[in-house]
Amino acid sequence: MSFYVVRVAVPVPLRRSFDYLPTEGSQRSDWQAGQRVRVQFGQQLLTAIVLSTETDTDVPEKKLKPLLERLDNEPVLSAEQLQLGQWLSRYYHHSIGEVLELMLPALLRKGSSLDEALEDGWQRRPHEQEPSLRGSQQQALWACFQQQPKWAHKALTSQGFGAAQMRRLEELGLIEATRTLPVPELETELREALPLNSEQQKALDALLPLLGSFKPALLEGVTGSGKTEVYLQLIAAALERGEQVMVLVPEIGLTPQTVQRFRERFSVPIVSVHSGLNDRERLQAWSLCRNGTARILIGTRSAVFTPMPELGLIVLDEEHDGSFKQQDGVRYSARDFALVRAQKASVPVLLGSATPALETLHNALSGRYLHLKLTQRAGNARPPGMKLHSILHQPLTFGLAQPVLANIQKHVEAGRQVLIFINRRGYAPLFACPDCGWLAECQHCDARMTLHQSPLRLHCHHCDHQHGVPAFCPKCHSDKVTALGQGTERLAEDLAVLFPYIPITRVDRDTARTRNAFEELLEQVHEPGPRILIGTQMLAKGHHFPAVTMVVILDADAGLFSADFRGMEHTAQLVLQVAGRAGRAEHPGEVWIQTLYADHPQLNLLINDGYHALAQTLLKERLHQQLPPHGYMAILRAESPQKHLAEQLLHQARGFLQQISTPIQVSDGPAPLVLVGPFPAIMERRAGRFRQQLQLFSPERGGLHSKLDPLIDYLQSLKGFHQVRWHLDIDPTDTI
Ligand code: ADP
Ligand code: ZN
Ligand code: ZN
Repeated sequence: MSFYVVRVAVPVPLRRSFDYLPTEGSQRSDWQAGQRVRVQFGQQLLTAIVLSTETDTDVPEKKLKPLLERLDNEPVLSAEQLQLGQWLSRYYHHSIGEVLELMLPALLRKGSSLDEALEDGWQRRPHEQEPSLRGSQQQALWACFQQQPKWAHKALTSQGFGAAQMRRLEELGLIEATRTLPVPELETELREALPLNSEQQKALDALLPLLGSFKPALLEGVTGSGKTEVYLQLIAAALERGEQVMVLVPEIGLTPQTVQRFRERFSVPIVSVHSGLNDRERLQAWSLCRNGTARILIGTRSAVFTPMPELGLIVLDEEHDGSFKQQDGVRYSARDFALVRAQKASVPVLLGSATPALETLHNALSGRYLHLKLTQRAGNARPPGMKLHSILHQPLTFGLAQPVLANIQKHVEAGRQVLIFINRRGYAPLFACPDCGWLAECQHCDARMTLHQSPLRLHCHHCDHQHGVPAFCPKCHSDKVTALGQGTERLAEDLAVLFPYIPITRVDRDTARTRNAFEELLEQVHEPGPRILIGTQMLAKGHHFPAVTMVVILDADAGLFSADFRGMEHTAQLVLQVAGRAGRAEHPGEVWIQTLYADHPQLNLLINDGYHALAQTLLKERLHQQLPPHGYMAILRAESPQKHLAEQLLHQARGFLQQISTPIQVSDGPAPLVLVGPFPAIMERRAGRFRQQLQLFSPERGGLHSKLDPLIDYLQSLKGFHQVRWHLDIDPTDTI
């Protein structure tokens, strides 16, 4: 028997593959790329993925260790997934082992069998002639098996069939016990597609011919313009072609209402993947997509990796949303990856947003993406009127200006809902001593502790550190220590005093801690009658509040002067998103933005001329400064418990990059690699670690990426930096 090794991807940070000897008694033909194996790696036992078998290896024969066990007979990762994994690994300069691990559901990562997804069930047996069944229930049950040969026991009982009826069919030899994947139930009453308005129709007509080939499209439509209806009708066409469809939504956009809208429209199995699923349910959803049973997948960021052998369309809603970018581990963008995946599969991608990211808009404006627009609200809803309300030198009551309060009163007295957006949870952002100026600060971060009332505590929102609330100032022992400023909790308390008869619903991460709690709050909001809604971003995204006729934005100013070059873009997106909650039904809405900077030119541009006008201006600025999307960017971040070490590491990195980038300068052309830093993060110390960053810019993607592998090799070869954690962030969305 000739010598060979099995090359595997091990989930460790090292950016390379590892060779092992095959297990005792195995044939070379037993090994297929995409199978899982158990390996001993140092002291750990890990689940690795087979990449190939090879006849030569760099590892000396004596050092080669045998694989412990092969976990799969068939690959769990398809050739396509392995290729996509290679792309991710190359593009994000990340270990192939960790990348492939990302593509597997947790149970498979831990080494469980694919069979863990199966549940007790029944399957139809071959039979010669139609059985004669007594009783309508028996017949109804048998009809289920005509429709679909395998059923999970649970799915049948939830339709009202009893175990006795199933056993009866078994006795008749019609069905037998089996293990099966639970197929999601279908909605019995379907809704018709809406007749499209002319803009929607034009968009759909342009999108339909894209099915069957790779082409990205941007559907830019104001909130409530009926983008979802266009998605639904395009999806219908893809299903009709026998294709599977992937729908990606932001983290907080995946509510039962969203899923219900799909289920009511299509009589096909739909799975949704969200944070409320346990590991087994995730494996089931993954398996149902992988074997083609599920025809539509609705999920958040990581759902983009779900195998769909008959994928025909990817829809990514609210494509500008920050949650599509993963901010730890493999720092991938699900939007960018969706494009790569669609290209490999030769299928279209539809990106939808009222406020597209400038990167996406740039691609649409330059013709790389098909650019479709919906400018009118669908149905008879009117767009909200927006105005900036200056609070400069104005007295405020509980953070609200008099005219704003008067207007809130008018709306609730008319029986309508008012939504107040304040992006600060907790009771108060500061807890301070008026006598000596002491402020409660986090001992682990350069940050203030937020005061919370229920339960009473001081809480750092950056590292989660919590402690009790002192009754006396720890510095001067004054008993006048007090809350300063306003968060959602305090605003709700204050408004309850002002409007004692109006129900108030507060939606933030404290009140909507679980999915169920969130759903209950959303249900409250759908009760008739006046109501004041107070909320953070959670309330701003993706939900329909038809009765809201006034929106107040309390603190948009913070983003106007952000050190992040995307600060204004993000502020504009948020403002419009919040504003979009108003007047979605027949009542027109109004949006009041309280600001200290009522003459801020870009804010005015946004209010008066809309997002597109602002975006054009911002794109010009970016061009001028060679910032994305007019250039490429990566950040090398480092953090350490000692202030100087992280900075030192980045200085070395900078020196190395300068050394390897002696540019062939084209006359007057832009510099191939621009380095900025190292400099400290805005909040330098977080969770006890000092954070520094080095920013890399280049007008060319290739020029930038070619430096990164040598850089990583260099960093890994450095001695004396064990205490420093570092990582590369490609196309970072968070730059402060
Ligand atoms: P978006 O996704 O752009 O925010 P939606 O698709 O959710 O917009 O549509 C907003 C509202 O308008 C929904 O209540 C939807 O049912 C309704 N709507 C959408 N398209 C039409 C149409 N062609 N005719 C009537 N109502 C429509
Ligand atoms: Zn004091
Ligand atoms: Zn902290």
